[in-house]
Amino acid sequence: MNVATRPTLPYYQPTGSECGLFEMAHDNGLPLLLKGPTGCGKTRFVEYMAASLGKPLYTVACHDDLSAADLIGRYLLKGGETVWVDGPLTRAVREGGICYLDEVVEARKDVTVVLHPLTDTRRTLMIDRTGEELVAPKGFMLVASYNPGYQNVLKRLKPSTRQRFLSISFDFPDPETEIKVVSSESRLEAGRVAPLVRLAGHIRKLSGMDLEEGVSTRLLIYAATLMAGGMGVNAALEAAVIEPLSDEPDVQQSLRDLISTIY
Ligand code: ADP
Repeated sequence: MNVATRPTLPYYQPTGSECGLFEMAHDNGLPLLLKGPTGCGKTRFVEYMAASLGKPLYTVACHDDLSAADLIGRYLLKGGETVWVDGPLTRAVREGGICYLDEVVEARKDVTVVLHPLTDTRRTLMIDRTGEELVAPKGFMLVASYNPGYQNVLKRLKPSTRQRFLSISFDFPDPETEIKVVSSESRLEAGRVAPLVRLAGHIRKLSGMDLEEGVSTRLLIYAATLMAGGMGVNAALEAAVIEPLSDEPDVQQSLRDLISTIY
C-alpha cells in the first residue's frame, strides 16, 4: 500500500475528457473503473487527479492473495496489546480520501462483498471484526482499474460489480501525445522519441498474434531513458522492449527485424 499526498502536481497529459469525468464522479460520490492495458497511464492519471483535488490517495496493488482484511484492517499485537489497525480502504473512508484498487480482478472474492455496499447509495463500509459501520463522507471516492486484455473466464469482473462503476476506457495515447509524454518523462528530445513511438505503433499491431500485449508507454519511457543516458538504440531496445515483451527467440527475432526497418 502506498499513501500519497503530493504537494506538487505529477505530470499528466490528458488524452480525452477523462479529467472532467473524474471530477464529476468525485463531486457526486460515484465510483470509477479505469479499463485499459498495462502501462498506459491509469495510475498516473489517478495520482494527478488526487493531487489536483488535494485529496489523500491510498493505492493498493491487488494480487490473488489480497483479502478483504488487507483492505479493511485487522487486530495486530503491539507491545503485548492487541490493537485494531485500519487498512487502506478504511483510512480512505474515514478521511474522505480516494482509494485506488489497481487490477481489482486479481483480488480475492471476499473483496467484492466489501465493495458492493460502498459502491451503491448506502456508501457504507462494514467492519465485521469491530462491529463498526462507516458511512463514507462526501469526498470519499473509490477508483479501480483492470486490464481487459488479461481476462480469462475465472478472472472476469462480474456484471453485478462492474455495473456499480462509471467506466473509462484507456488506451495508449495518440502518437503526438505519446511523443510528448515519453520525451517529458525521459528527457530525450522529441525528434529521437518519434521513431520509438512509430515502432510502438507497429508492435501494437502484432499484439494478440505473436505478442500477448503491445509495448506499453512505460517501456518506451525506459528505452528513451537509456538512450538519453547515452546507450545505443539497439542495446536500449533489447533491454527495454525485446526482452520484456517476449521469451520466444522467434518472436524476439521478428521484433529485431521490425526495429531494423525503422533504424
Ligand atoms: P498503468 O497504471 O496504466 O499501468 P502508469 O500510470 O503507471 O500505467 O503509466 C506508466 C508510465 O507512463 C507512467 O509512470 C508515466 O511515466 C507514463 N505515462 C503514461 N501515460 C501518461 C500520460 N498521459 N501523461 C503522463 N505520463 C504518462
